[in-house]
Formats: sequence, C-alpha cells, structure tokens
Amino acid sequence: MNEYPVLPAQFLETMKQQLGESEWDHFLQALQQPAPVSIRLNPFKGMPAPANGQAIGWSSHAYRLPARPNFTLDPCFHAGAYYVQEASSGFLSHVLNQLALPEAPFALDLCAAPGGKSTLISSFLGDKGLLLANEVIKSRNQVLKENTIKWGLGNTVITQNDPAHFAPLSESFDFVLVDAPCSGEGLFRKDPQSIQEWSPENVHLCQGRQSRILQEAAALPKPGGYLIYSTCTYNPLENEGNVRFLAANFGYKPVEIPIDPAWQISRSECKTEQGVFPVYRFYPHKVPGEGLFMAVLQRPPSEANEKSPKKAKDFRHPHLQRLPGKVRNHPSFPKLDVPEPLSYYQYNNHLFALPSRWVPRFETIAIRLNVQYFGVELGDWVRDTFLPGPAWALSMLPKSSYAREELTREEAIRYLKKEPIALSKADRGWVLVNYKGLGIGWVKNLGNRSNNYYPKEWRIRMD
Ligand code: SAM
Repeated sequence: MNEYPVLPAQFLETMKQQLGESEWDHFLQALQQPAPVSIRLNPFKGMPAPANGQAIGWSSHAYRLPARPNFTLDPCFHAGAYYVQEASSGFLSHVLNQLALPEAPFALDLCAAPGGKSTLISSFLGDKGLLLANEVIKSRNQVLKENTIKWGLGNTVITQNDPAHFAPLSESFDFVLVDAPCSGEGLFRKDPQSIQEWSPENVHLCQGRQSRILQEAAALPKPGGYLIYSTCTYNPLENEGNVRFLAANFGYKPVEIPIDPAWQISRSECKTEQGVFPVYRFYPHKVPGEGLFMAVLQRPPSEANEKSPKKAKDFRHPHLQRLPGKVRNHPSFPKLDVPEPLSYYQYNNHLFALPSRWVPRFETIAIRLNVQYFGVELGDWVRDTFLPGPAWALSMLPKSSYAREELTREEAIRYLKKEPIALSKADRGWVLVNYKGLGIGWVKNLGNRSNNYYPKEWRIRMD
C-alpha cells in the first residue's frame, strides 16, 4: 500500500484551527482516500447521463462516477460530450444560476486554463452570451484552446494577456471569474506534487499574486456586476485576506448564495469593516470533491446609463480582417444555414465565424488584447478554395453540405490515433466522421484510400 505523503506541520496547524476537533480526524481520513471522479456533460451535445452516475446537486449536468474509466480511449470525451471536472468546481454552476444577470451576459474568466470553469460558463451562456476566456501562460493557453474547440459552442473568445492589459475593458462585464493561482492545499489528495510545493513563504507569495490580479479584475465588472473569486486552497490568507482587500479598496458588497444543507458545503462569514461577506468552502470529508473556496461580491450599481460598444465602420487590425458580406456568395465559401446571422473573419488563411451580434464586443477586444481564438474556426480559405477544419467538425454549427459517416468505437479510436480508416460508402471528397452522432473530424476520401485530417497534436498516443 502506498503511504500518504507527510503533510507540512504549519498547514496541519492552520487546518486544525479552521476545522476544530470534531472534524479533524474525518478530514485527515478523507485525504487518504482516492479522489472521487466526476464528469460534467455538455448539454448541447446530448450525451445521456451515465447510468451508474450520481448527480451532483450544485452542478448542472454533473455526475460522480463509481470508478475512473479510461477517458483517453472514449471517443465521446474527444468529441467534447463531457469534461472531467472534480465535483466541487461545479459549484460555479449553482452560483451563476443565483445571480441577477441580463438576458445575454458578457462574461470574463481571467485565469482560465485548462478550461474547466470556462466550459461550464460556456454551457451556461449557450447561444445567448459571450465569454472572454483568458490565460496568460502560452502553453496553458493551447490547452484552453483545445478544450474550448472540443466543447464547440462558439461563444468564447480566447486571449493570452496579463490581467493588467484588461484596463481598457473596465466596467464591461456582467460577471468576472478570478479562479486564482494558489497554494493548492485543496489538491493535496489529487495531486501530491502540490504538497512538495507548499510552504508558508509560498502562501504569502500566492496571496500577493492574487491581490495583484484582483486589483486589475476589480475594475472590470459593470456597476452592479459580479466578481466571483475562487481558489483551490483552504488558506485564510489567500481567501478571506483577498475578500477583505476587495471590500476595503473597491467598495464591493457581499452576495449570499443560498445552499441546500444536504450538500454539506461549509458557509462561514468573513467580517470586514465594510460588512459581513459569506464565503463557501468545500472539504473532502464532507463533499465528493476536492478542496475549493468561493466568494461572490457585487459591484455597487451606478446611476449612469450603461454604454454598449457600437459596430465600427472600419475594423483595422494588423492580422485580422472582417470579410465583406458578399464573400459568402462565392461558390466555394462554406454553406452555413443558421437562424442567427454570422460574421466572418480571416486570420492568415484561417476563416472564422462569429454571431454578428457579438461583432462590436469582439472587435473592441481584438484591437486591445492578444486574441488566440474566437467563435468557430471553420477551416482554411486559400485562393478561393475552402478546406474544412477540425473546430467546425466539433462545433454545433451545421455541416449539412458534407457527406458524413458514423464510425464504430474501434474505427473512431483509430481515427483519433490518426491512423488510416476505411470509409464504407461515402463519395469522393470531404467526409465528416461522427461517433454516436457527434462530429469528431474530417477525412478526405480519395476513392481507393482516405486521408485522415485529425490534428496531429490532439492524437491519442495510447495503445
Ligand atoms: N479556471 C481554471 C479551470 O477551472 O480549469 C483553473 C485556473 S488555475 C487555478 C489558475 C490559472 O491562472 C493557471 O492557468 C495559471 O497559469 C494562471 N496564472 C498564473 N499566474 C497568473 C497571473 N499572474 N495572472 C493571471 N493568471 C495567472
């Protein structure tokens, strides 16, 4: 039997104070159990709830599984039918359902990679709202992009910026999530490496970094909008310390989130000179998930009328070009029969589609921030020829002008490993390959053989 790693003495001391004698042993015991496994379904891709899953009360479409399946060898996972997310993080779903938000919210996830909470927000916004998901670290931004593309809802813009770069977007968002980098105390069970990285000095370092991020984030919600602050640590310095910082410096108000006592979420009160702020903690001995902290704060409303950006006549950008409406009359331009008008942009040879009503917002973002992805990348548009791309296959946009072929599980896995697959009937040309009705990618049928266009960097590397 593997021995559980020794926990740092100062961590244990603070936790004992936080939990009290009655909970202490339960907490320590829970840390020695295997981490529970949960998934959150993509409500737009229609995968049925797992037969052996146990619904998570505070998270729409989320289920705890009795054991960890091999997700890598499940084509539905690669099709964006679900996201593997530990259950506590799904509390954001319940929180969003409690807020007084407009019909078409504009949201920011400032520390977004790998995209667990961004895909949750994307599902919440559906075809109504727009999400700006930001990740400052380049390699992590790539993972965020992959997960966003697979989720496929087309309502997300991805940027790679430092929080300080967001100043021109102050008072723009209906809600801002800061899921901050932290000392990771809540992940000790799931990721023992975080035990090695923990030290009192690192907690102080994290608290300083969190305050610097929040200093920028605090200006970004609209008056009356929300700031949601979360970490995966229990530490009061990183949690209540920063709630106090927001209350004292930016006039934020507390927001109570009603919770069902059966969920066993721990609500406590953070007392500040500006008022009492309810805060919520998830402990592994009480919930089927890992450690999490969340607090919701509201920016005071203002008397002034809200200003929405207007569509500029010209969109001038060094790399990105908005295509004129007549381009879609070109015989090779992709055919998209959708109820909502789309606008098209080109970045080098890459062709993107975005709902037209988000154009003013998107262009305001694009001229100020370092955009990495947005809407749906349909494919490559090169010298009047169009080549469909993987993001379109995985998106909810229709692809009715293409032949399609349903693959068996074995064929789908071969496809996802980027191995050749034999097509049964389709005509020559581009074929959309599906698994359980969900698009997973493209092959080009050449008659005697076919070419597999699954992206090399996404391929399954497991036997
Ligand atoms: N929200 C993500 C999710 O649910 O999948 C997890 C976010 S993780 C806790 C925090 C993220 O903040 C990391 O991806 C990290 O790269 C990023 N980060 C690190 N330093 C940062 C900084 N100074 N400003 C903003 N983000 C930072």
